[in-house]
Amino acid sequence: KKYVYLFEEGRADMKNLLGGKGANLAEMTNIGLPVPPGMIITTEACKEFYVNDRRFPPGMEEQVREKIRVLEEKTGKRFGDPANPLLVSVRSGAPVSMPGMMDTVLNLGLNDETVGGLGRAADQRFAFDCYRRFLNMFGDVVLGIEHAKFERILERYKERRGVTLDQELPAEDLEQVVAEYKALIERETGRSFPQDPMEQLFMAIYAVFNSWNNDRAIVYRKINKIPDDLGTAVNVQVMVFGNLGNDCGTGVAFTRDPATGARELYGEYLINAQGEDVVAGIRTPRTISDLKEEMPDVYQQFASICERLEKHYRNMQDIEFTIERGKLYILQTRTGKRTAQAAVKIAVDMVHEGLISKEEAIMRVEPAQLDQLLHRRIDPRASVKVIAKGLPASPGAASGKVIFDADEAELLGNQGEKIILVRTETTPDDIHGIVAAQGVLTSRGGMTSHAAVVARGMGKPCVCGCEAIRIDYEAGEFRVNDLVVKKGDVISIEGSTGQVMLGEVPLIDPELSPEFLELLQWADEIRTLGVRANADTPEDAAKARAFGAEGIGLTRTEHMFMAPDRLPIVQEMILATTTQERQAALDKLLPMQQGDFYGILKAMEGLPVTIRLLDPPLHEFLPNAEELAVEITRLRLTGGDEEELRKKEELLKKVRVLAEFNPMLGHRGCRLGITFPEVYAMQARAIFQATVQLVKEGVKVFPEVEIPLVGEVRELALLRQLVDEVAEQVMKETGVEFEYSVGTMIEIPRAALLADEIAREADFFSFGTNDLTQTTFGFSRDDAEGKFLHEYVEKKILPENPFIVLDQAGVGKLMKMCVALGRQTKPDLVIGICGEHGGEPSSIEFCHRIGLNYVSCSPFRVPIARLAAAQARV
Ligand code: PEP
Ligand code: MG
Repeated sequence: KKYVYLFEEGRADMKNLLGGKGANLAEMTNIGLPVPPGMIITTEACKEFYVNDRRFPPGMEEQVREKIRVLEEKTGKRFGDPANPLLVSVRSGAPVSMPGMMDTVLNLGLNDETVGGLGRAADQRFAFDCYRRFLNMFGDVVLGIEHAKFERILERYKERRGVTLDQELPAEDLEQVVAEYKALIERETGRSFPQDPMEQLFMAIYAVFNSWNNDRAIVYRKINKIPDDLGTAVNVQVMVFGNLGNDCGTGVAFTRDPATGARELYGEYLINAQGEDVVAGIRTPRTISDLKEEMPDVYQQFASICERLEKHYRNMQDIEFTIERGKLYILQTRTGKRTAQAAVKIAVDMVHEGLISKEEAIMRVEPAQLDQLLHRRIDPRASVKVIAKGLPASPGAASGKVIFDADEAELLGNQGEKIILVRTETTPDDIHGIVAAQGVLTSRGGMTSHAAVVARGMGKPCVCGCEAIRIDYEAGEFRVNDLVVKKGDVISIEGSTGQVMLGEVPLIDPELSPEFLELLQWADEIRTLGVRANADTPEDAAKARAFGAEGIGLTRTEHMFMAPDRLPIVQEMILATTTQERQAALDKLLPMQQGDFYGILKAMEGLPVTIRLLDPPLHEFLPNAEELAVEITRLRLTGGDEEELRKKEELLKKVRVLAEFNPMLGHRGCRLGITFPEVYAMQARAIFQATVQLVKEGVKVFPEVEIPLVGEVRELALLRQLVDEVAEQVMKETGVEFEYSVGTMIEIPRAALLADEIAREADFFSFGTNDLTQTTFGFSRDDAEGKFLHEYVEKKILPENPFIVLDQAGVGKLMKMCVALGRQTKPDLVIGICGEHGGEPSSIEFCHRIGLNYVSCSPFRVPIARLAAAQARV
């Protein structure tokens, strides 16, 4: 079996076998770019390695040796040759990009003899510098010796010389560092450092295979939902050096700005530096435009390669390069990670440039990512106190408590605290802290530092390289000049400007960019699934409309009952002992409700508006029994007002009568309408009177009256009759005719099972998947998540939280059946969804597939739903 490929034997579409990095190196080699030669050990080999109890598959080693001979021929250098040694880098490369998660070894092939050869080819100091870096990386990555132990030795030499930078150490010091490093390795592992390059190579390959299952790689895969069984490939590539002097360097660049999407090269480099120095964020690098001045020829060549790569891959590329003695080498290219803003702009620009189709552009943007653009930012009119400014590494604003430690950030974040993780720099070991934080602030590192890349990927605000802040981990504080900010103090960061502010700051709603609007317009041309919004106020309705909602899929009328000026009247209605008393309270509520509906219907002129009649159990509108009992006791003890005491006692009695063991399965939804028809009648009248008012004003409206929690067709029949009667009365009283429809929510499995019967009485269905999930699983939607559901997901009993991502297997099966049964009775039955799932991309795709007419979600998710609906169609 072939386990090892030379770069020229591969192609870009062999990612699964060669890993992303390897496949792209192969592709670039074949289109003639300056790529140092190398080989790729396949992911197959890695998978077999794990099947074989972590042993290399038979034949692999021989193939590696064979390819090393090819590299020797190509370069005229030899592995282990003291005069002219071949040196290689060994890097992991999974099929899916996992930046910084796995291990890399550079300068492999150095030993006590070849270091001399390298010294003669370059210079002594350089050779020992490479050797000590190699010993350190090999020791850390392959032999598992803590990096800090190597650092301490180096620090000692720097202190002794009174210098701060590694480059300031002379050759003889580095030679001694090398000797100490070797002694350290021998002490720690009980054997001397392996001198044989071939042995070094196999140990490094072993370590890379092993790193597929290190903790941070496992965490990264879990967060990014990358399967655990892909395995990693290993890239072995001839070394080129960016640290041979001032005509050398190394850098990373994006073909477009990954934060804004602007069409210009965007990146950083360091002169006289090697490999990971740029990404590690230890020295703050220069921007790529400086290279234009510093090395104009190299810059021109690089710029034209960037353009070529972008055209070739038809996507924005993230490119690593090294300059060795004025000669440019490309070490990696991959599809660049980008913010939502950049994703949208690049996709739309590329359509205009003729590089991709509209459909491709639609697929290039992750709907969930759009959340970032729909998030709030700092109100520019607010007076904020900016205490420092760093690099705008990942857009969006966030406020939270300053925490310096990733573990602590995770702990507090999980308790619901808002956190800003503040570090000098982050490493892959901090990833769980970044996940838990609202935003990240670092004092060192550039736009491609770890913190910046990871935060952008997660859509979290990040300010990095903020050198004005000086962090003292031990004291648990950072200082900006004289200002001291302690752990737990609240700060805000604005990742699009790089600002750091003291305290919490006011935020405002986002605006949609022209590119975003254009993309959404294309989405609308493509999609067939309608998108409506859930909105309970005219303001929300207007916002939803501005975001492109094509109607309202759910107005929850109970929210209107909760308003402070209405609650007492609602309570009067509930506490009424006679029908007359109840009617008196309802008469007061009627004009208020009518006003509500008037506003919403008007905001949605020309579009359908689904208004749901009262749904929650009535005791939700009454005070808490325990608190009431305490108050009564207090009044009794203090001899308070008799009249008040009596009233409270009455109230408590009523609260106790209404209390239920299982309110979610209790007296709610249409069951309220059955027992208190006058409440539903009042609401229906309010809807129709508002409709008449608007019709008279010449406003076109389409009210859809919705009955919740139906499980039996006779429930719906009875209430529909009630609504129809009210409509008829209102028409008669006003002499105005109007259109309306009556339908039901599908929230109970029985309703889905008997949808053919229910459809007889319904003009439309709308899946209330919050309740339908609750009732199908028998999971309380209010308790399950905190109590056990997270463990279900952790233990992979369920793939996702079904209250967030629709359970297609179970709840979805009921929905599918319901659609089929409902349309068996009424082929044109309009069916939508208004549970939380209506704004979740994978659930939207499912809704498209089973033939729903529309999804309805919160106003802010409308653009996401428009895009997801278009993607479902492509
Ligand atoms: C539902 O149950 O999915 C729904 C939309 O109604 P509510 O969330 O108000 O119960
Ligand atoms: Mg419901």
